[in-house]
Amino acid sequence: MKAVCWHGTNDVRVDTVPDPKIINPRDAIIKITSTAICGSDLHLYDGYNPTMKPGDILGHEFMGEVVELGSAVKNVNIGDRVVVPFTISCGSCFFCNRDLWSLCDNSNPNAWMVEKIMGYSPSGLFGYSHMTGGYAGGQAEYARVPFADTGLFKIPDGLTDEQVLFLTDIFPTGYMAAENCDIQPGDTVAIWGCGPVGQFAIKSAYMLGAERVIAIDRVPERLKMAEEQSKAEIINYEEVDAGEALKEMTGGRGPDSCMDAVGMEAHGAGLDGFYDQAKQALRLETDRPTALRQAIVACRKGGTVSVPGVYTGFIDKVPMGAFMNKGLTMKTGQTHVHRYFRPLLEHIQNGDIDPSYIITHRMKIEDAPHAYEIFKHKKDNCIKVVLKP
Ligand SMILES: [Zn+2]
Ligand SMILES: [Zn+2]
Repeated sequence: MKAVCWHGTNDVRVDTVPDPKIINPRDAIIKITSTAICGSDLHLYDGYNPTMKPGDILGHEFMGEVVELGSAVKNVNIGDRVVVPFTISCGSCFFCNRDLWSLCDNSNPNAWMVEKIMGYSPSGLFGYSHMTGGYAGGQAEYARVPFADTGLFKIPDGLTDEQVLFLTDIFPTGYMAAENCDIQPGDTVAIWGCGPVGQFAIKSAYMLGAERVIAIDRVPERLKMAEEQSKAEIINYEEVDAGEALKEMTGGRGPDSCMDAVGMEAHGAGLDGFYDQAKQALRLETDRPTALRQAIVACRKGGTVSVPGVYTGFIDKVPMGAFMNKGLTMKTGQTHVHRYFRPLLEHIQNGDIDPSYIITHRMKIEDAPHAYEIFKHKKDNCIKVVLKP
């Protein structure tokens, strides 16, 4: 089959590789009909994960048709259309039983790699390096889904791939990030980063009762999408100081909650931005936390900081004094996709949201190298790419 494989920093290729096979009774094989490139794939593309190996198949946002089932999978049938959460979860461990699916204890066979850095490992992830299990991803013609009896969600008739594809990751991720803001009626939420997760976080914050959402970015077409599609107020941080602007817009009090939907590769406008780029380049710091620092400082006293942005290692110069003295709460985590699938599917069915509005590019899987390039450099107004095998 054809698959998008990682070969090094800024080097992905479409290779011909062996088709996946059923290994365990709880496996399924999916013939992929749609798959997407995610902002977090760029951290791998940019070479920030030391546990990638040449030939690894990328991709964790995919859906398709069931073509083969292990003997223990009874909840779906051959031919069913299904969406696959990007987190791999067993469905029966301590964490899965508590609805904390992305913290599953049984799905990362390489947990030892993570335990050295993090103490304990989160769940395995599709197409996301060996430290999260080394599972082949879904930017391919076929994929093996482990724990398919909990990890496949059947799509009702009448919905297109593009309407439901983002239930794999970015729609639940934006929604959980908004839920983590603990929004009360009348609240103002500030969101750093208007990429796909940021866009869905804006929509979700309104769905959860926010009165105002203020979106912060520097890419004009992303700010425009936030404004036009979701009625967010916008700040371009290259034109104005985001912290000062937020203070002014909130009558001097600050937003009730602040979200970092940027993560480890933030672009900073000020001195601390240059400091992070230099330290990250020298491998003295693994992640660049500009957005997180700003979110902590901008947040009102007693507020909440929500972090859906991906971090993998260590960060420097976190304003812990501000965080502690202002009595802030921080909530974060990989998304518990399984928990959000059904309620968010209902929102799509009810017409509350059609997530396909964020798609700017549709390409064939053979064009993946070009797709990564334009997505990374935000060329050609690229916000989200869907690939068709
Ligand atoms: Zn993703
Ligand atoms: Zn589990």
